[in-house]
Amino acid sequence: MAEKLVDVVPPGDHHETDVIIIGAGPVGLFAVFELGLLGIKARIIDILDHPGGQCIELYPEKPILDIPAIKSITGEQLTKQLLDQIQPFEPAFHLNEMATELDRTDDGKWRIKTDMGTTISAPAVCIAAGGGSFQPKKPPIPGVERFEGQSVFYAVRQREVFRDKTILVAGGGDSALDWTLNLEPIAKKIDLIHRRPDFRAAPDSVEKMEALVSEGRINLHIAQIKELIGEDGQIDSVVAETKEGEHLNIQCDTMLAFYGLTMKLGPIAEFGLNLKENRIAVDTEKLETSVPGVFCIGDMAFYPGKLKLILSGFHEAALMAHAAFHYVFPGKKLKFQHSTSAKSLQAKIN
Ligand SMILES: Cc1cc2nc3c(=O)[nH]c(=O)nc-3n(C[C@H](O)[C@H](O)[C@H](O)COP(=O)(O)OP(=O)(O)OC[C@H]3O[C@@H](n4cnc5c(N)ncnc54)[C@H](O)[C@@H]3O)c2cc1C
Repeated sequence: MAEKLVDVVPPGDHHETDVIIIGAGPVGLFAVFELGLLGIKARIIDILDHPGGQCIELYPEKPILDIPAIKSITGEQLTKQLLDQIQPFEPAFHLNEMATELDRTDDGKWRIKTDMGTTISAPAVCIAAGGGSFQPKKPPIPGVERFEGQSVFYAVRQREVFRDKTILVAGGGDSALDWTLNLEPIAKKIDLIHRRPDFRAAPDSVEKMEALVSEGRINLHIAQIKELIGEDGQIDSVVAETKEGEHLNIQCDTMLAFYGLTMKLGPIAEFGLNLKENRIAVDTEKLETSVPGVFCIGDMAFYPGKLKLILSGFHEAALMAHAAFHYVFPGKKLKFQHSTSAKSLQAKIN
């Protein structure tokens, strides 16, 4: 999605918080609210560059009909409303980062490390990682792995890396168009290639792209990539074929391929938690895993009778927050209260 929804914390530093949430899907977002209601601060990590999880990535425009008291709401609207609802609690977002390691520090806290070098410590961790981390589908081009990570990439983690590059963007969805438009001002030259003339991206992005093509600032090719030419991991050009059988040779030193995403459990499988059917086993009272202080809610949680529904995840977030309270404020009595009588929250909202 082209629109920037939240401010993102730059990667690489160490942070302390009360609860680390892995996953900014609808359930991870609502967990911020339930924790906030109890005076608990949260930091939230997601591998994607935007919050919303499956709602934004897989069905942003589909109407969801089973959110209580809301007759119909799209995945994108639900995400925006959740962000609006949790805004008073000022959660810190670590986006474009994958939580890769969980370990315990000497002071008894949990520490999460990400693949971008960020570390976050907290007395409790809440895994809300849904179906797992979204990982890129690789393009079906022979030998593509020879260039991966050096001159062929499946995501943009830091835009500046691509300054003054001769870039070929491959794909026809939102990511391909968003990055074509975003990188055009800083690239030396930018080409876009898609196998069909129709694009799956937001109409506004398609219009903007077409305008830049007619101004000669983006070169558009409707063709299929056949071969990557280059040596020692460095791409020089790409051979592509049009529907009519014409061969194109497109010069580039960088290729960005956006062929969609699949979901994999990923590094969470190595966190040392009890797994069941490729999900994390939890109790139904606290949503706590086999490891004290580590909770799991939403689609990734496994317990008898679990339904993979947003509303189930919302309920689980409330139970998790009440249990996490005792790790964050040991010895403090938790006074149950309704939001209608939570004066501190009302003060923040009004
Ligand atoms: C087409 C479709 C239609 C649906 N319709 C409905 C419906 O009508 N009603 C309904 O209730 N439900 C519906 N669902 C299901 C609903 O979307 C899920 O139940 C919901 O998204 C689960 O939310 P979640 O927050 O648990 O996980 P997700 O939405 O999957 O979010 C998890 C997030 O965690 C991130 N993540 C995972 N691993 C890591 C890691 N290691 N590091 C960093 N980030 C990580 C992922 O990138 C992702 O953003 C639908 C699902 C689909 C696919």
